[in-house]
Amino acid sequence: MQNSMTSRVLVIGAGLAGSEAAMFLARHNIPVVLVESKSLKLNPAQKIKNYAELVCTNSLKSLDPNSAHGLLKNEMKSMGSFIIEKAMEHAVPAGDALAVDRELFSQAVTEGIKSHPLIRVVEAEASNPIELKKEFECDYVIVATGPLTTKSLEDWILKEVSGDDFYFYDAIAPVVDADSLDLSKMYFKDRHKDIEEGGDYLNAPMTKDEYYAFVEELAKAEKVAPKEFEDWKFFESCLPIDLMAERGKDTARFSCMKPVGLEPDINGKWPYAVVQLRKENLLGSAYNLVGFQTRLTYKEQVRVFRMIPGFQDASFIHLGSCHRNSFLNARKLLDFDLKSKKYSDLYFAGQITGVEGYTESASMGLYVAFQVLRRINGLEPISFPVETAMGALVNYIMTIEKPCPSNINFGLLPTIELTKDQMKKDRKKIKKDLVARRAQDVFQSFYSKLD
Ligand SMILES: Cc1cc2nc3c(=O)[nH]c(=O)nc-3n(C[C@H](O)[C@H](O)[C@H](O)COP(=O)(O)OP(=O)(O)OC[C@H]3O[C@@H](n4cnc5c(N)ncnc54)[C@H](O)[C@@H]3O)c2cc1C
Repeated sequence: MQNSMTSRVLVIGAGLAGSEAAMFLARHNIPVVLVESKSLKLNPAQKIKNYAELVCTNSLKSLDPNSAHGLLKNEMKSMGSFIIEKAMEHAVPAGDALAVDRELFSQAVTEGIKSHPLIRVVEAEASNPIELKKEFECDYVIVATGPLTTKSLEDWILKEVSGDDFYFYDAIAPVVDADSLDLSKMYFKDRHKDIEEGGDYLNAPMTKDEYYAFVEELAKAEKVAPKEFEDWKFFESCLPIDLMAERGKDTARFSCMKPVGLEPDINGKWPYAVVQLRKENLLGSAYNLVGFQTRLTYKEQVRVFRMIPGFQDASFIHLGSCHRNSFLNARKLLDFDLKSKKYSDLYFAGQITGVEGYTESASMGLYVAFQVLRRINGLEPISFPVETAMGALVNYIMTIEKPCPSNINFGLLPTIELTKDQMKKDRKKIKKDLVARRAQDVFQSFYSKLD
């Protein structure tokens, strides 16, 4: 691609999408002004001042090239993703997943951004992107302020762009101090690997009695009540563990507590259910309770989670909680290059566009920066083939009738018809492999032919 030094881009928000977008443009010789508010005030989910903060789990999910998450990461790598680059540099062991040391990762992103000669960082809260674009003499503006966009900007978006108030609530999982766990009741094993191989995940197996007693307490424990103005609409694949318990006594056992691939346990027994723990850092001094996002009050979390085998003296580094998540109805408000239908120089990127997840948000930063770069170079926007992970994600937010944030998953990619022979074998696996192979081929052919 050719590029032009005459255009300048304003990026609002130095989260995963904003950092990715700013670096993509700067690396293509486009000057960027990056406005970030966290040094003035952290939002309720943030803990550090550095950019691209991972506010909950430290995992960017699977690297397996045959998984939907792996496909997305590989496409991002082909496009020169800064976020994946820094994540790989600060990875911690997590089986097939890309988990990172969150402090070192954010520090590296921040240093990269601040030291780039074409990125000017401005520490301020943006409330009117169009005015700010003029003030900083920029040609285009990308709003990447995420699920916890500050009130003043949100008000502007509601008034000027969306007109509708779309939001729902997400929940954070607790982190436990490794030294406080009784490891004699737990075992290391990754799903579908032999126990002799050890593993990155620590598992707390439960008997049938232990599981039902635990679920009963989860269901009846005291929850944090939603505030008056809040309308809790949880993301179905990220339900609070206590809500699962309320839905049915076996719901958790078929979700994050499923023992599948973890049997037999350390005593050679088959657990009825399992709580999985993932390392928070390379030292393994803290563990995240996988899938244990919760609405329980802090006091109740300590009481109920200490029922987990090995947790009788557990000390929690932080407890779980619920948070707001704002996002737009992209189909109604944006073009496929994620440009506002109303303001032709205004783009949105990241979770605010209606995707869900760290990697997905970063990928939408890359996607939008790519489209802005094309525009600067006098090229038409181009849609990514729906057979690719990135194309499928954009297609999803641009077509879904009733917006509901989504992670990347195979359900978003067009299906493939199997032959009669293939139908007789492991259908699910064959189908995934074929869809993954097609995605790789289509992306490679599409991206290599671009101007
Ligand atoms: C509580 C919570 C937990 C989550 N847990 C997970 C998880 O475990 N795994 C997962 O994959 N995804 C998770 N997500 C979803 C989501 O993918 C991440 O929040 C992701 O960080 C979104 O990336 P983003 O770049 O769109 O926004 P963010 O990473 O949030 O970045 C937005 C940036 O914009 C800044 N900003 C906001 N308003 C303004 C303003 N007016 N002016 C200037 N700057 C502003 C913010 O300070 C922030 O730095 C979670 C979300 C929430 C809210």
